[in-house]
Amino acid sequence: MDLKGKNCLVTGGSRGIGKAIAGRLADFGANVAITYARSADAANEVVDQIEKKGVKARSFQADAVKADKAEEVIGDIIEQWNSLDVLVNNAGITRDNLILRMTEEQWDEVINTNLKSIFNYSKAAAKPMMRNRGGSIINISSVVGLSGNAGQSNYAASKAGIIGFTKSYAKEFASRNIRANVIAPGYIKTEMTDKLNESVLEAINKETPMGRAGETNEIADVAVFLASDMSSYITGEVVRVDGGMAM
Ligand code: NDP
Repeated sequence: MDLKGKNCLVTGGSRGIGKAIAGRLADFGANVAITYARSADAANEVVDQIEKKGVKARSFQADAVKADKAEEVIGDIIEQWNSLDVLVNNAGITRDNLILRMTEEQWDEVINTNLKSIFNYSKAAAKPMMRNRGGSIINISSVVGLSGNAGQSNYAASKAGIIGFTKSYAKEFASRNIRANVIAPGYIKTEMTDKLNESVLEAINKETPMGRAGETNEIADVAVFLASDMSSYITGEVVRVDGGMAM
């Protein structure tokens, strides 16, 4: 797989899965820009690590919820790098609660950060990608979007919404050679899942046929495949990367 000269943007690239995807895209020769919400130091470190691989890197402080920021970030990338070839919509949060206890704020925050953000960035990327005669969009959902999860109705709704959005986007832009696919990770070791207690983790491992958590690089490798021309006839697809959990 060769991504030399491709310009990529990963939202939420300062930590966890987004950081791994950004690093892996760079391993295959791509220039990579990342966004983050709060972790400026971590984002700067990711930029340094990527530049050491001999490609270009940039970071943007940009709340993914803000549509005008998405336009600004993508406009800036086009100005500096001339094109956007790959967009990875990865930024996401959890605000878990049972439905009867869930506040309107918890609902709105998760739907806006996880789902509206994908509309913002995918819409902003569409025109530059059309001008570029193609592109690849990769949206990070979750197995929870396929199966639902008690205590995560807001998160599951956002992640299921991503799948519906991606399939619609894939249909609207297929004739323009813009592909859009979803990765649905299972349980992956990151700061997001560090919060889970031992008994929850044990239950997750039990439900996972492969009997272990996934590593961020195991998601990143699939993202590289979907970003590259190796997946040139795949669009509107949902790829579970979950050790068999949601099978
Ligand atoms: P982390 O919490 O480790 O990292 C989240 C990233 O998203 C950070 O870079 C964070 O930036 C960024 N982010 C959060 N809110 C915003 C915002 N409003 N605007 C811009 N950036 C934001 O999460 P993971 O790496 O675990 O998760 C990444 C994606 O993968 C998420 O969409 C998550 O739902 C999904 N996923 C994760 C699974 C897992 O097991 N870990 C399983 C299934 C799906 P900052 O550092 O500035 O806060």
